[in-house]
Amino acid sequence: MKALVYKGPGQKSWEDVPDPVILQPTDVIVKMDVTTICGTDLHILKGDVPAVTPGRILGHEGVGTITEVGSAVTGLTVGDQVILSCISACGHCDFCKQGVFSHCLGAEGASGIGWIFGHLIDGTQAEFVRVPYAETSVYLLPAGVTPEQGALLSDILPTGHEIGVKYGQVKAGDVVAVVGTGPVGLAVIATAGLYGASRIIAVDIDSNRVEQAKKFGATDGVVSTDADWKDQVLALTDGLGVDVAIEAVGLPETFAMCLDIVRPAGHVANVGVHGRPVELPLQNLWISNVSISMGLVNTNTLGTLAKLVAQKKIDADLFVSHTFAMGEIMDAYDVFGRAAETKALKVIINA
Ligand SMILES: [Zn+2]
Ligand SMILES: [Zn+2]
Repeated sequence: MKALVYKGPGQKSWEDVPDPVILQPTDVIVKMDVTTICGTDLHILKGDVPAVTPGRILGHEGVGTITEVGSAVTGLTVGDQVILSCISACGHCDFCKQGVFSHCLGAEGASGIGWIFGHLIDGTQAEFVRVPYAETSVYLLPAGVTPEQGALLSDILPTGHEIGVKYGQVKAGDVVAVVGTGPVGLAVIATAGLYGASRIIAVDIDSNRVEQAKKFGATDGVVSTDADWKDQVLALTDGLGVDVAIEAVGLPETFAMCLDIVRPAGHVANVGVHGRPVELPLQNLWISNVSISMGLVNTNTLGTLAKLVAQKKIDADLFVSHTFAMGEIMDAYDVFGRAAETKALKVIINA
């Protein structure tokens, strides 16, 4: 089969590799129908994730059709079309029992980390994928959800919802600011309204992206290169700051912006993937009763979000900016990697 193989920092190739085979009785083999590229894949290609070793097939999102099932799999059959979660969960360990699938203690990949596809085991940017712990990790593609929409349920919609909106404790009436309107920031915006936020303020350096965020549910937008950006945000509150500030970039500067605009007793939810140390000024913050949260997605709301996509309460199609055939995946990486120029959000890759 063909797959997108990481060859070391800055290098990748779409090349022939052996077909995956069942290794554990709980595995299935899936023929990928749709896959996509994540910002995390770009971090890996920069060499920021040293656990990913050369030879690894990248990708942790997508929808596929089961072609083979392991001997212990009874709840899935050949021909089932399934959403692959970016998190693999054994279903039996202490963390899985709590719904904290992100820290599954199963031995696949490495015990204690549920993100293994395209990281510690071969991933979804391939014609076929071995899926471990299949019965407790995949979701049947529901009626009314297209495979393309399903691929957005693998990671970005649950990440925005769980780590941004739920950890941020967004509730009815809240004023929410989302700093960073890339695909995951937009997923926060698209799901914050589910909890009755009174305002959702999109904050980004790019005025086009701020404008675009309104299609996803932002009620207001602030361009963060404006000298008075903070005053603009505060003017959209009662003057005391936002109830919830959600960081969806992954830079010290954008995290500091969230601390700047949150009101006392508010919440800061960090969604961004940070590569550099971030200063936490506790000497100023301790007195403000602010809570700060962060995390790796569990995808334990994937099923709920799928229902909302099926009922058009979340317009998942808005996230798709470009579509490619699988043989064009190198072009898809090029377009996705130059998102500022190409205006790429999610690039969908169809088999
Ligand atoms: Zn991802
Ligand atoms: Zn587990």
